[in-house]
Amino acid sequence: MVLLKSIPKVDKFVAKNEFKELSFSLVSTISKKVLQDLRESILNNEVDSIDENELIKKVIKEYQNITKPSLQKVINATGVIVHTNLGRSLINEEAFLKAKDVATSYNNLEYDLEKGKRGERYAHISKVICEALNCEDVLIVNNNASAVFLILNTFAKRKEVVVSRGELVEIGGSFRVPDVMASSGAKLKEIGTTNKTHLRDYQNAICEQTSMLMKVHKSNYSIEGFSSEVDFEDIVNVAKENNIIDYYDMGSGHLIDLPYGLNESEPSVKKIMEYNPSLLSFSGDKLLGSVQAGIIVGKKELIAKLKKNQLLRMLRVDKITLAILEENVKSILLGDIDKIPTLKMLFTEISKLKENASILKNSIDDICECEIKNTQTVIGGGTTPNKKIPTVALSIKFKNYKPNKIEKLLRAKNIVGRIENEQFLLDFRTIQEDEIKLIENSIREILDK
Ligand SMILES: *Cc1c(COP(=O)(O)O)cnc(C)c1O
Repeated sequence: MVLLKSIPKVDKFVAKNEFKELSFSLVSTISKKVLQDLRESILNNEVDSIDENELIKKVIKEYQNITKPSLQKVINATGVIVHTNLGRSLINEEAFLKAKDVATSYNNLEYDLEKGKRGERYAHISKVICEALNCEDVLIVNNNASAVFLILNTFAKRKEVVVSRGELVEIGGSFRVPDVMASSGAKLKEIGTTNKTHLRDYQNAICEQTSMLMKVHKSNYSIEGFSSEVDFEDIVNVAKENNIIDYYDMGSGHLIDLPYGLNESEPSVKKIMEYNPSLLSFSGDKLLGSVQAGIIVGKKELIAKLKKNQLLRMLRVDKITLAILEENVKSILLGDIDKIPTLKMLFTEISKLKENASILKNSIDDICECEIKNTQTVIGGGTTPNKKIPTVALSIKFKNYKPNKIEKLLRAKNIVGRIENEQFLLDFRTIQEDEIKLIENSIREILDK
């Protein structure tokens, strides 16, 4: 029988030597909880004896649990370049440091240094994007989902938006075109069928209530076989004839031509701009390779209306986002692809991937069995549905371990690989050069045990 009075007193307990280096206030709150739990367990007759060392350990464990960084660096060895679960796009250090200068001091975010009065938050980025895309104006919001929402809410509230049934997609993270449209206040007018939509379907759908013809990138799926969709160029022309807005949610827009013939199915934003569209929107952190943002480009008078929507105040982006985006778009404009990790990874030659794979192989083949493989990967992030690109991976075998066990051991070291044909692979399409040594060290640590 354990008596309640044998529970340590809080003030004495928190003064223990073991807590000396820790934050007093955090130790106090955790200790109160731990001692309260103990009290309840005693009342429930679940305690045979009180071990104070165990209680101290419990508090320290909880303390560490709360204070250790939850968001951590991970090595992406999956080969999926735009990996939404792993943070989508890497930011290069130079752009990050430029943003640091802006963010750690006062800045001209909304201040016109020439005129000495209030300036425009989006002016910094519009110069460089308008130059890169030959568009009239630009607006940046929190992400592309916000862009879609803002555009629909501004121009199509209580009005109809015409969308092909083949494009009513759901994108990862529960973004569903019909649902987003409903919450924005726009009325969806579905046309065509799942596999086929014709130009006449758009023409026939237009009525008094129509505000917009919208095209949505199919993102993570594709329709093969007996199918057809209408080119955005034709949609733009029909919209113009009828004096309504055309809008293309491009999902992952990209500013430069993609390798491996991907451009045929995925034209760049620049190419789409040639059709003279009303509005386009795309993500900042998919194939553009920058920060999380939604980029809206198009006609000046339409962007001006978006800027007047109260919603923009809730969807607007921070100076850090604008600073990094400005830097990244500038690099793309100058053809400095190496400064955009997403694009650099996409364009890396197979021979270079092989070279990197060999470096790791040679560094660990004394301790485990590994083999360089030519295989394929996907870009990911709903960018180029069903399209594979070539890559090089190192298959790793530890004696007596199944692939899923190896996967787990490496994942415990924040290295995320993939299993293919019952082999554990580290894909060099997404492994950074300075990570090769880290992988070697981790594998040695695992096998030394
Ligand atoms: C990814 C995607 C979105 C959402 O973009 P986020 O930047 O993730 O908010 C919207 N539409 C399409 C077609 C997409 O592919």
